[in-house]
Amino acid sequence: KDNLDKGLEKSRGSFFTQLTKAVAGKSKVDDEVLDNLEEILVTADVGVDTTLKIIERIEERVERDKYLDAEELNTILHEEIAGLLSENQTEDVHGFSVPEDKKPYVILVVGVNGVGKTTTIGKLAAKYIAQGKKVVLGAGDTFRAAAVDQLKMWGERVGADVISRGMNTDPSAVAFDAVQRGVETNADVVIVDTAGRLHNKINLMNELTKIRRVMTKVTDGVPHEVLLVLDGSTGQNAVIQAREFTKATEVTAIAVTKLDGTAKGGVVIGISDEFKIPVKYIGVGEGVDHLQAFNKMEFVASFFN
Ligand code: GDP
Repeated sequence: KDNLDKGLEKSRGSFFTQLTKAVAGKSKVDDEVLDNLEEILVTADVGVDTTLKIIERIEERVERDKYLDAEELNTILHEEIAGLLSENQTEDVHGFSVPEDKKPYVILVVGVNGVGKTTTIGKLAAKYIAQGKKVVLGAGDTFRAAAVDQLKMWGERVGADVISRGMNTDPSAVAFDAVQRGVETNADVVIVDTAGRLHNKINLMNELTKIRRVMTKVTDGVPHEVLLVLDGSTGQNAVIQAREFTKATEVTAIAVTKLDGTAKGGVVIGISDEFKIPVKYIGVGEGVDHLQAFNKMEFVASFFN
């Protein structure tokens, strides 16, 4: 919770200051307040459609409750956003647990280069290993020069087995090896990295399809989870990437990284609203402890208080 508060400092700071400004000297929520609120939400990168949805709900509440001061407005905003997140995310905080009946539990990690895929994998591995679980990592980002080495470093650091075939090798072969190693060694979790080249949508789709197909040759039903990593500090760009990736492959969970150091934390709300895919993790720093299981109530509380 402390990490979360610290991590969201910038989003929260700018959001609340602006909200206070918007309602300063006002005794009720009028059109001007609502216009300002709309602008604040869009600036916080909540996204236009989601913002309009929120504003509409606030309008209904104002209509019903008539008089609202800044504090009440904040509370209502808080409630409405939590409500919106709840609609899309009925099941909260899977935390860092994996289903017992899926062993090894296989996670395929996708996303554009630089968003924090490798780091998120390292942090995730650390969490599982801390629970006494056995983890295999697949260095499937064979395209980016440093990615394989970086994953190996994480593996050494946290004590995970890393499968690699080096650079420019076939990522699906790495994925196959990693799942196979997981099965052979009775591992609890297998996490496979991928390269994130978006310049060619068809290639991306073909590559991810191939990786998935090859994985299922080892064992049926894998990957159990496809985790899309998005860089929260890029705001609406993250949304555009999510659109591309959800078109290219089925995505079952989202991690939003780099929420520290950005005032665009609202993007988590927009992403959750648009894609109806659970935001499972958020990254609030570079350190191994800076990955958090997403908890919508805590997030909203950190965002507004
Ligand atoms: P990849 O290309 O997607 O594998 O990205 P990397 O894992 O190499 O991460 C790119 C950079 O982002 C690295 O310098 C990471 O330390 C940094 N990074 C990853 N997650 C976070 C985060 O939550 N907060 C901050 N501040 N930096 C992060």
